[in-house]
Amino acid sequence: MKKIGFIGLGNMGAKMVTNLLKANYEVIGYDIKEEFIDQLLIKGLQKASNLNNIPTDVDIIITMLPNGNIVEKVYESIIDSFKPGTLFVDCSTIDVDKAKDLHKKCEVRKLFSLDAPVSGGVGGAADGSLTFMVGGKTNAYNLMLPLFEVMGKKSLLCGSSGSGQATKACNNMLLATTMIGVGEAFNLGNNLGLDPEKLFEILSTSTGSCWAVNSYCPIKGVGPKSPADNDFQPGFSVDLMLKDLSIALKAIENTKTSAPFGTKAQENFKKMVNNNKGSLDFSAITIFNK
Ligand code: NAD
Repeated sequence: MKKIGFIGLGNMGAKMVTNLLKANYEVIGYDIKEEFIDQLLIKGLQKASNLNNIPTDVDIIITMLPNGNIVEKVYESIIDSFKPGTLFVDCSTIDVDKAKDLHKKCEVRKLFSLDAPVSGGVGGAADGSLTFMVGGKTNAYNLMLPLFEVMGKKSLLCGSSGSGQATKACNNMLLATTMIGVGEAFNLGNNLGLDPEKLFEILSTSTGSCWAVNSYCPIKGVGPKSPADNDFQPGFSVDLMLKDLSIALKAIENTKTSAPFGTKAQENFKKMVNNNKGSLDFSAITIFNK
C-alpha cells in the first residue's frame, strides 16, 4: 500500500483525504491551518506540523491548494527532499504554463509528476465521484490510477504535461458561456410570456439541452434542485469560476485563440466579483448578466 503526503486540507482536500484513509492508505497531511489537520486525526490522518515534517519516504505527494503561486512555493520548498521516483500530483486548478513548469522542475530531479485538476466540486470530493483530468506521462498516470479510483469515478490521461489544466480551462470556459446562454434563453422566454416549467421541459429534451439546463437549471423551482433553489448559495462560487476563466483567458492570449464568448464571460464574472457577488454560486450570473 502506497504512503501518501497530502498538502492542502481545505474544502476539497479534507474530503479527498478522508476517502484515501477509508481505503486504508497511510496519509500524512499538512495545511497552514493546523485546525484543518487536527480535525482529520480522528479519521486516521498522521500530522505533519510543517512541510519539512512530511516523511521523505512517501511514495506520492498530492497537493490541493488555492492557486498556482502557492503550489509553486510549496514545490520549491520541498522538492529537493524527496528521492527520485517519488510521484508529485497537483490536483489544484492552476494555469497551464505554471503546470508545465512544475513538471520540468520535477523531471530534472527525476521525480514523476502529474497535473490532475478535478471536476465535481465538494460533493464529488465527499462521495468519491470526482473526475480527474490528467496531464503527464503514462507511467506516472498508472502509478496514480488506484488512488484516482478511490477519490473519483473517472480519470483520463488527456496528454502530456499541462494537458489536465488545459482540459479543465476548456471545460470551465464552456460551462461559463453555456450558463450565460441558458440565463438569456429563460429571460427571453419570460419576456415572451412562456411558462418556465414548459420551457425547461422542451430545452432539456431538445437541441438546447446541456448540463447547465438539465442538471443545474438556474431558475428557482424549475428542473432538478440546484443553487437557484437556495438563494444561490454555492455549489461552485463566482470567485472560483472567475479564477478558472482567468486561467482560460491567459491560455487564450498565449495561444492567440479567437474566443470572444469566453473573453466576454470572464468580463461578466469579473463584474460580479467587483460588485461583491463573488461568494454566490456561479449560476447567479443568469440574473446579474447585464
Ligand atoms: P480551500 O481554500 O478550501 O483549500 C485550500 C487549502 O490550502 C486551505 O485549507 C488552505 O489553508 C491551504 N493552504 C493554503 N496555502 C497553503 C500552504 N502554503 N501550505 C499548505 N496548505 C496551504 O480550496 P478548495 O475549495 O479546497 O480548492 C482547492 C483547489 O481545488 C483550488 O485550486 C480550486 O480551484 C480547486 N477546485 C475547487 C473546487 C470547489 O468546488 N471547491 C472544484 C474544483 C476544483
